[in-house]
Amino acid sequence: MGRFAPSPSGPLHLGSLYTALASFLQAKSQGGQWMLRIDDIDPQRSRASAADAILRTLESFGLLWDGEVAFQSRNTGRYAEALTQLQAMSLLFPCTCSRKSLTADADSAVYAGHCRSKTLDGTEGAFALRIRAADTTVSFVDRLQGPFEQNLAADVGDFVVRRRDGVVAYHLATVLDDHEAGITDVMRGIDLLSSTPRQIYLQRLLGLFSPAYCHVPVLVDHQGRKLSKSTRATAVDLRSPGPTLHRLLCWLNQTPPAELAREPVGVIVEWALQHWDPTLLTGRVFIALEDRAPEAL
Ligand code: GLU
Ligand code: ZN
Repeated sequence: MGRFAPSPSGPLHLGSLYTALASFLQAKSQGGQWMLRIDDIDPQRSRASAADAILRTLESFGLLWDGEVAFQSRNTGRYAEALTQLQAMSLLFPCTCSRKSLTADADSAVYAGHCRSKTLDGTEGAFALRIRAADTTVSFVDRLQGPFEQNLAADVGDFVVRRRDGVVAYHLATVLDDHEAGITDVMRGIDLLSSTPRQIYLQRLLGLFSPAYCHVPVLVDHQGRKLSKSTRATAVDLRSPGPTLHRLLCWLNQTPPAELAREPVGVIVEWALQHWDPTLLTGRVFIALEDRAPEAL
């Protein structure tokens, strides 16, 4: 069982459609299911209209999900339960560091441990909850990128599991939702590779099964920047899905015949399912989109 879990902060751009297509092909070519989860846990950044646009885009490209769409915003009870569980293991502490102080003293992004000795009872005002990072190496074998390991204490530090504004952090939410949905294969962008040890750490603490991980390259523009809203990547154009799908397959290192670009979406997706070979992406970190600015694509 695979999944695609976009954050509805805007419509899908090519970079996210690329990841969606890869995870769809991976799950469906093996006869598995592919579910869709809208990661709308952050009310500041989520828009219902963006979630709708994402659904319409996936449909236009023939990427049809199985079952009901899941929404993180509807699962907050489970998140609170997990926080209580971690708290009972004495692994959480309140952090009152301001964003400013965190960026000022950190050469790296590793949390220096300022608030480690604080307790929930003795702390007033707004605070984030951090989890103590174990001084052990968490390792896993990524199906495309090979072995990957991190010492959480040295490489990441104690990390936030509940933000200062009360919103559960991405790592914890995604681990709980992947587990609840029975996800066995996570295929997502390589920008999340270094997040995976934190997620595996949480899975172990909470007694959850770890899915297999597979991180695909990300699309970068002609300046080497990942396509995202901040690099002005625009919403994918729904008017000619065939040629776009064809191009995405080429960027996935598959070799679709040229004439396939003119076929209906269903035919292209069928071809892709029959021919899907993710190993053609082995070790690739990014796919550069020639000399074109993303808005021209
Ligand atoms: N909502 C997250 C994102 O879009 C999901 C990442 C993941 O696949 O775990 O970055
Ligand atoms: Zn702190």
